[in-house]
Amino acid sequence: MDHVVKTGEKPGSGTYVCTNCSQQVSVDEYDKLPPCPRCTNNEFVRK
Ligand SMILES: [Zn+2]
Repeated sequence: MDHVVKTGEKPGSGTYVCTNCSQQVSVDEYDKLPPCPRCTNNEFVRK
C-alpha cells in the first residue's frame, strides 16, 4: 500500500501523483506539497 502524503506536508523532493486524477506534481526538498493543480485534491502518493 502506498503511503499517502497530503497538501502542506514536506515529503521531500520527488514526483507525486494525485490520488484522484493522476496529475503529477514535482516538489523540491523543502517545498510544501500544493493542492492538485487540476482537481484541487489534497492527497498524493509518491511516484
Ligand atoms: Zn488531481
